[in-house]
Amino acid sequence: MSPARPRARRGHRRSTGSRTRRGGYRGDVTPLSTKDTPINTPPLKKNQTKRTTTKKKPKNHAPGLCNTRRAAWLPGRDREPGPGISPRTPGSGLGTGMGRAWGSPGTGRGPGTEMSRVPASPGRWGRSGDRDGQSTGSSVRFHFPSQRFHATTLLRAVLKMRRGQGKRKAEATELPRVSQRRKEEEEEVREARRRAAPSVREFKYNKKRVRLVSQGSDLKDDARCILYWMSRDQRVQDNWAFLYAQRLALKQELPLHICFCLVPKFLDATIRHYDFMLRGLQEVAEECAELNIPFHLLLGYAKDVLPAFVVEHGVGGLVTDFCPLRLPRQWVEDVRERLPEDVPFAQVDAHNIVPCWVASPKQEYSARTIRGKIHAQLPEFLTEFPPVIHHPYPPSCPAEPIAWEACYSSLQVDRTVKEVEWATPGTATGLAVLQSFIAERLKSFGSHRNDPNKAALSNLSPWFHFGQVSTQRAILEVQKHRGKYKESVDAFIEEAVVRRELAENFCYYNENYDSVQGAYDWAQTTLKLHAKDKRPFLYKLQELEQGATHDPLWNAAQLQMVQEGKMHGFLRMYWAKKILEWTRSPEEALQFAIYLNDRYELDGRDPNGYVGCLWSICGIHDQGWAERAIFGKIRYMNYAGCKRKFDVGQFERRYAPCTPSQ
Ligand SMILES: Cc1cc2nc3c(=O)[nH]c(=O)nc-3n(C[C@H](O)[C@H](O)[C@H](O)COP(=O)(O)OP(=O)(O)OC[C@H]3O[C@@H](n4cnc5c(N)ncnc54)[C@H](O)[C@@H]3O)c2cc1C
Repeated sequence: MSPARPRARRGHRRSTGSRTRRGGYRGDVTPLSTKDTPINTPPLKKNQTKRTTTKKKPKNHAPGLCNTRRAAWLPGRDREPGPGISPRTPGSGLGTGMGRAWGSPGTGRGPGTEMSRVPASPGRWGRSGDRDGQSTGSSVRFHFPSQRFHATTLLRAVLKMRRGQGKRKAEATELPRVSQRRKEEEEEVREARRRAAPSVREFKYNKKRVRLVSQGSDLKDDARCILYWMSRDQRVQDNWAFLYAQRLALKQELPLHICFCLVPKFLDATIRHYDFMLRGLQEVAEECAELNIPFHLLLGYAKDVLPAFVVEHGVGGLVTDFCPLRLPRQWVEDVRERLPEDVPFAQVDAHNIVPCWVASPKQEYSARTIRGKIHAQLPEFLTEFPPVIHHPYPPSCPAEPIAWEACYSSLQVDRTVKEVEWATPGTATGLAVLQSFIAERLKSFGSHRNDPNKAALSNLSPWFHFGQVSTQRAILEVQKHRGKYKESVDAFIEEAVVRRELAENFCYYNENYDSVQGAYDWAQTTLKLHAKDKRPFLYKLQELEQGATHDPLWNAAQLQMVQEGKMHGFLRMYWAKKILEWTRSPEEALQFAIYLNDRYELDGRDPNGYVGCLWSICGIHDQGWAERAIFGKIRYMNYAGCKRKFDVGQFERRYAPCTPSQ
């Protein structure tokens, strides 16, 4: 990989304000404008989804069962065309071809746990709990960090009216109107799925999303069910892995089961993250029950609990989703090794629009090099989803009731980092956040997304991270408004598709995605050269964690993350770069940044997070800049640059009102 040549000094002083044409990060530091950006803005054809959605009977659909069970397991041979990916081929990412990516032995794998289904006990997470606002269809129950937008505001307005203090008639009708709109939107989405196909069985499923992990692909004759091992994509609808599993089950006329393996700890995740995940899973379990698909929550590492489950339930075929990170990949490999040989095992990339292994066969250098590849493949992959339907083949045994309380007790995580209030977990709320983004913030996304005082971001990253909302659904919905908000829609697609899938590409193809060794040679060289430079301030991890530095903006950003579980995207760059400036070495800076990010951000432990930290500290996907102390050729950001961009004082006052201003 050739190093990026440092650019001339032009614009160096204003590096916080200029966007590079070669490797610039998301909106770098300047709001992305479609005018000055070399973005191949999406030729997202208006009728593109229609092409798939209007077909009632796809050409290749053959009614009845496949001739052989074997056929159903081979991506690309299941009546539909498509090359598929053969097992253990280089580039397939599983087996010999990607052996290098399996990570350091033993990391985070913890002790083996006996397979255990959680015994039943009255759960504390009953339907009527936190989510009661949702069941009424209110899209405004939650509120966003720093945007104090929530149902109580509306409710207060209604009550005021009732007390005769209301000013405008419209206020009184606002709440029902919002509910009504939300219901209509939900129905529209359901209708779009139905238009795509009555079920996934009749849908022309793109097999490039699937690859075979196991050696064997034959489904045994005495198979009693199909199992989807849900891991990263924790939702029912709009989930290509779930859909693939149901497709197989429908074709084989078998029951379908879902399981989730709950590990007691995961990297630096705390109760904040586990709570978000478990409450989302509760919604999944309820939805599965309505669809006649038993949902099993297994306690322990998949390698310890899944193979036994497979044998006990006579699972004929296993499907899982995809994550490019080391640990989840190791889980898949561990299961593959322990699975009975006659059980085929397939993996589906249900997180990316263009499957990671299809988007590019190698590590891409920057957004510039992957953008064209992704946009060229969007017409093929950015399609409507068919619905996951009520499963017609009943399970021989129901799922045991889940004792959610016991799940919480089984966790070995830090419980001091508390759950956040603004983000209610689950697909229903995630989709409501998406709709509120479209209705209220999308219009400003193009122009104000780099201003932390403005409500312009989608705020969807927690739901995306846990797979509770599909990015593909978000794009399908957002792009409907391109006629009205072209700049914003294009900028959103750049972030949520190009930048996000670039991060997936990096973590998938670079085994050092979370260390300085993962950086380009030029960046490693320049950081080494400046490793001994005198630092103006040196902070310990604890001082950083408490937001106790000399810089009130940095402290405010840190506190926003600690308190709300989500730092504004623009400030994340400034935040990480300052850690490089104030710690003893780039290695220490990266370690601290990843630790804090993974511990406090709801969306942490994500490819986006590793790439965000490496972009800020190690220049990944960026280019070299004019040399300066500590940073070398890594792009620099400073307080003065932030002041030119937004009202820094306003942000500081919000999060650190007691900090003496500098
Ligand atoms: C140091 C640092 C750490 C970061 N840590 C994380 C992290 O842990 N998890 C995480 O999801 N993102 C991370 N990001 C990327 C980005 O800041 C967040 O995705 C974004 O702020 C999430 O807020 P949002 O959903 O409101 O974003 P929006 O601006 O509304 O964007 C919509 C979606 O696009 C994607 N996206 C936006 N910006 C980027 C980006 N720069 N790179 C890749 N995808 C992007 C995300 O999926 C996001 O949810 C980090 C960035 C930096 C610089």
